[in-house]
Amino acid sequence: MPWYDEFQEFIQLNEPLGRYTWLGLGGPAEVLATPRNEQELVALVRRCAQEQVPVRLLGAGSHVLVRDEGVPGVVVRIVEPHFGQVQCQGRQVRAQTGVMLAHLISTAVQHGLAGLETLVGIPGTVGGALRSNTSAQGNEIGRWVHQVRLLTAQGESVTRGRHELLFGYRESNLDELVILEATFELEAADPTELTRRMQKHWIAKRAEQPLGQPCAGYIFKNPRGHEAASLIEAAGLKGMRIGGAEVSQRNANFIVAYPEATARDVLRLIDVVRSRVRESAGVELELDLEVW
Ligand SMILES: Cc1cc2nc3c(=O)[nH]c(=O)nc-3n(C[C@H](O)[C@H](O)[C@H](O)COP(=O)(O)OP(=O)(O)OC[C@H]3O[C@@H](n4cnc5c(N)ncnc54)[C@H](O)[C@@H]3O)c2cc1C
Repeated sequence: MPWYDEFQEFIQLNEPLGRYTWLGLGGPAEVLATPRNEQELVALVRRCAQEQVPVRLLGAGSHVLVRDEGVPGVVVRIVEPHFGQVQCQGRQVRAQTGVMLAHLISTAVQHGLAGLETLVGIPGTVGGALRSNTSAQGNEIGRWVHQVRLLTAQGESVTRGRHELLFGYRESNLDELVILEATFELEAADPTELTRRMQKHWIAKRAEQPLGQPCAGYIFKNPRGHEAASLIEAAGLKGMRIGGAEVSQRNANFIVAYPEATARDVLRLIDVVRSRVRESAGVELELDLEVW
């Protein structure tokens, strides 16, 4: 009997991952698991540890490119509605990490809690946002974190307080296998004024992104002292296309995937952008997008 038989109710075998990522590309996961509660998640993680099966976490898939060959081992999706609870108490908001960032922000705003609203319009889950310390307009999610609960690769739950947490540009030290839930400490503000501010940020964010096309942003980190998008644009690469993958006309640090695109097209385009920027500006672009 294969080891995964006892998890039949919430796993799919050889499941194409394209439908779970924003780019809509890439091959299947050997096992795709969508646990419905923490007990199922813990049991699965412990079994994977025993069997020495590799495990990867997927949120909304807005910052992951899956290779055409697919992914060996188990991919675990932590998403709403199963990991979708948000609760406000005083100035604190506690969220399970499958909660969409938009859901967390609108709940905080309704309760007159300020801090996260500049992050509006960024797709993805709270888990994905915490892992890479999602940021926009000089604000980053990590700044507001009070406490997190994590699950280790052995299936043990650990809690880390503010003083143990480190957040940097596109990184955090939340490097245990799963980020389970987080408590944010926010600032009291007038809900009407906050809603107005949130709408303003939302409009600005929409103007920056490719609309109505599968994409993943941002492809590269901003090198020190530079903006990746400006370097790519200055190298004349806006609109450059390989197969079905194109450097976005709207923001050169996004790649858009047309229906005929493959993950290989995106990877080839990334290589070309990198080498052209190296030649023209002498700057080495580092990948921000995660490639599986
Ligand atoms: C149109 C567009 C605009 C964007 N704008 C911005 C922006 O302004 N600023 C910005 O910072 N980013 C931006 N991004 C990138 C992306 O939205 C964020 O990085 C987002 O927070 C990723 O969340 P996700 O749930 O989609 O994560 P995924 O893409 O699913 O995963 C990303 C990483 O997080 C890990 N992960 C996910 N959930 C968990 C969990 N529960 N526990 C442990 N690890 C987990 C995954 O293993 C992976 O390593 C943009 C993306 C797009 C497509």
